Amino acid sequence: QPGLLIGRLAWASKFPKDSRLPGIGEMRFVSTRGQSASVGFSEAVAQGLAPDGGLYLPENFPDLSESTDHWEDLSYPDLCFEFFRFFATDLDADVLRHAIDRSYSTFSHPQIAPIVELSENCKVLELFHGPTLAFKDFALQLLGNLYEHQIARTGKNLTVLGATSGDTGAAAISGLIGKRGVTVFILYPNGKVSALQERQMTCTGAGNVFPLAIEGTFDDAQSTVKELFSDLPFREAVGLSAVNSINLARILAQSVYYLFAWLRLGSRDRENTTFVVPTGNFGNVFAGWLLTKMGIAIRGFRVATNQNDVLHRLFDSGEYSLGEVSPSLAPSMDIQVASNFERLLYFILDGDSARVREVMNSFREEGRYCFENLAVDGFSTSSATDSEIPEIIRSVHREYGYWVDPHTACGFKDLPPDEKHLVLATAHPAKFPDLYEKAGMEKPTSPVLQQLLEKTPVKYDSPVSPSAIRAFVEKNSSQTGE
Ligand SMILES: *Cc1c(COP(=O)(O)O)cnc(C)c1O
Repeated sequence: QPGLLIGRLAWASKFPKDSRLPGIGEMRFVSTRGQSASVGFSEAVAQGLAPDGGLYLPENFPDLSESTDHWEDLSYPDLCFEFFRFFATDLDADVLRHAIDRSYSTFSHPQIAPIVELSENCKVLELFHGPTLAFKDFALQLLGNLYEHQIARTGKNLTVLGATSGDTGAAAISGLIGKRGVTVFILYPNGKVSALQERQMTCTGAGNVFPLAIEGTFDDAQSTVKELFSDLPFREAVGLSAVNSINLARILAQSVYYLFAWLRLGSRDRENTTFVVPTGNFGNVFAGWLLTKMGIAIRGFRVATNQNDVLHRLFDSGEYSLGEVSPSLAPSMDIQVASNFERLLYFILDGDSARVREVMNSFREEGRYCFENLAVDGFSTSSATDSEIPEIIRSVHREYGYWVDPHTACGFKDLPPDEKHLVLATAHPAKFPDLYEKAGMEKPTSPVLQQLLEKTPVKYDSPVSPSAIRAFVEKNSSQTGE
């Protein structure tokens, strides 16, 4: 899976008191591993990963159950603003408002995240109306605008460096195109991402974006990036930062569409609808689950994996173990280490960060960990293999006249027909035309992707060696303020 981007950038997190949002106390963020000091929102976003190697979580949670009555009719950006007010307490309200409005103005659907009713019991939440046609746009558009504000305020430029197998790279690039003070370097394995995904990364025409086609696999790209992140002088010099889903801003931005959808289900269905989430890294499904800590009564979550079923096995048997990644028809879910599981683990272990460290260390050393009586209420799981995915796509179309992409298809595996489900559609089917062609199905299209075919790709071929990439980044990143 895309991006492993850990990074740190020294942003001052203190703001004068009078610029805070009225009536809301300051929110602090703590590390799951308990050995870093708590930080404010801006600092948590800047760091991505906490210095002790843990992931940030809010220190406490607002009770939203009181507010939801007034929130039913809010537009997506308005709801997003109300939600973030509780967390981004070190940002000026105008700044937050502006960042949110700009982020969702790039979406092509007026409702931003529309619900489509396939049947009485089965609905779909379409999360693919952003500029790169996958749900990652929800968080990365916002992250780009938050970064831009920070850079303007601190005068410190930043460099985003990441590895991708497709969607994260495209969404990160789109969120950061033309942002002043940000230079983006995305490594991807030459010839191993889909033609459309490559075009999304290479046809931007933006001067601050450098797609690097490396000779090697995604894992090679990822380990090169990791190595560069551990080069501290380099990291400081170019101001490396993190955009993968260990970044808390991404998680919180995703919580908003669960809340938006839940409010729109109406009072009767809210209580008995299960959210079905095609999952790789556990980031998306965790974002939804977090709302249950804020007084939002979501019935449950179905964690839908592809044939890389580490999470399916975990919830089934309590065993969390590394296997080989097996490339699948739903490539953005081809993951063996579900990094956001650490956040859930923190709650499972009642916030005992010493035990979180113990589990994570043991997992790192032995590649597996066994939980006795792993009981987490509200989760069920499923897993769809590559031989099942095309058949699921066909049967959903046969039954409802609706095309799903191969990731979303995993969500439809063995859904109990007599229960209510809302399936999250994580990507637009037109992103994966080859699959449809191969299976002899009608090829879905999108005008956004059609336009890409007319543009000229710009990419940089590179060996995968860290020194070559380091030199390239040093030469091309903008290292001084405006
Ligand atoms: C990234 C991605 C996923 C997996 O999301 P996680 O947050 O890693 O669980 C699923 N579907 C699509 C289309 C994606 O791009």
